[in-house]
Amino acid sequence: MSGLDDHDCSPGFVRVAASFTACRKTDSPALEHAMAAANETLCGIPRDQVTVYRHLFFPRRRGACGECRERAVGAPTEPGPQERLYHRVKTAVPGCLREELLAALRSGADVRLWVNGPTEQVIRHYAQLDRIVEGAEAIEAVVRGDGGRLGLARVVHGAREFVVFLPEDGAPLVTAQR
Ligand SMILES: [Zn+2]
Repeated sequence: MSGLDDHDCSPGFVRVAASFTACRKTDSPALEHAMAAANETLCGIPRDQVTVYRHLFFPRRRGACGECRERAVGAPTEPGPQERLYHRVKTAVPGCLREELLAALRSGADVRLWVNGPTEQVIRHYAQLDRIVEGAEAIEAVVRGDGGRLGLARVVHGAREFVVFLPEDGAPLVTAQR
C-alpha cells in the first residue's frame, strides 16, 4: 500500500489520517475491527459477519485487531476539509470573492461548518442570510429555488467569514458575511 504519491496534486494542504468505522464480529465481539470502503474489514471479515458501530476505529485502543491496526496506520492520508472545499470552490464562477476564499483555504482557513440537507432547512438553520454583505444577489435563485438539496460551508479566516452555497446541481456560490 503506497500513499507517497498522494501528496503532489495539491501542495500546501494538510492531509488528515484516514478514518474507518469501528465494528466487531457479531459472533465473537472481543476485538474491534476497521470497516473498509469495500464490503469487508481491513483484515478481510465480510460485512455481513460484523456489527458496525457509530464510532471510529482507533488503532491504538486496547482490543483493536492487530491486522486492522497495521493497515489503518499504513493507509494513505486523505484530503482535509480545506482541500475538499477548495476543489469545489474552484468550479464557482470566477470573481474577487472566489479568489479571496481560495487563497484563504490554501492558507489553512477554518472550515467551521459543512452541512448537507434539504435546501429549505439548510438555509433556515445555517445560512444567516441577514448577515450576508457580499454575494447576496448570486444566491437569490438558490434561496427562492424549488427545493432539492444544498450543501453549505462556513469558513472563517481572520476577520473574514465566508459562506459557500453548494447546490447539488449547480456551481458553488460564494458569499461573505459580517
Ligand atoms: Zn480486523
